[in-house]
Amino acid sequence: MRVLLVEDEKKVASFIKKGLEEHGYAVDLASDGKTGLAMALDQIHDLLILDINLPEIDGLTVLSQIRGKKAVTPVLLLTVRATIEDKVIGLDTGADDYLSKPFSFEELLARVRALLRRHSESKSPVLSLADLSLDPASRQVFRGGNRIELTSKEFAILEYFLRNVGRVLTRSMIINHAWDYDYEAETNVVDVYIAYLRKKIDAPYHPKLLHTIRGTGYVMREE
Ligand code: CA
Repeated sequence: MRVLLVEDEKKVASFIKKGLEEHGYAVDLASDGKTGLAMALDQIHDLLILDINLPEIDGLTVLSQIRGKKAVTPVLLLTVRATIEDKVIGLDTGADDYLSKPFSFEELLARVRALLRRHSESKSPVLSLADLSLDPASRQVFRGGNRIELTSKEFAILEYFLRNVGRVLTRSMIINHAWDYDYEAETNVVDVYIAYLRKKIDAPYHPKLLHTIRGTGYVMREE
């Protein structure tokens, strides 16, 4: 899961980024509204955490521009202003939830999880191929009736493959999806994770679902 955080207060930003990264999320940071808007329009993020008071362009304007472009990325607004009117304006503009500063990390994490769960439920209930299935809502993976434990990176990569069955995914596409911008693109890290994933979801089973496309990347399909 890749999160875009738009927050100009350095302390708050690093508190959120560090905490989410410890929980397995990839987090990109923008420290003003203009940069945040440009990054959000790439639509590669699964969730946007958006401060309202921002330099360059304020958070509500960023939000209305994103929604104007029909982006459906769930948005959690952060603010110190917490009057009922502000909340209503934020929700009317297209925010999915609202969090008033100061907040505890646990509360933020709970909101983030709830938003991602709601969003993935609406996107797709359960993803599957042959006897492999992945439930984005409960974050469970099964193959041949066996529950498979995956790390959060492995889960993110598998979900990406299952949303793109039959499509060849290059190493850099996988990096862009599962790691953040700051990650120094060592593309062989993808091979390492694919090897982990294969060991868990493919090696003990038939048919094999995750295939190497020489010189290009990988594809998930039933041959
Ligand atoms: Ca601010």
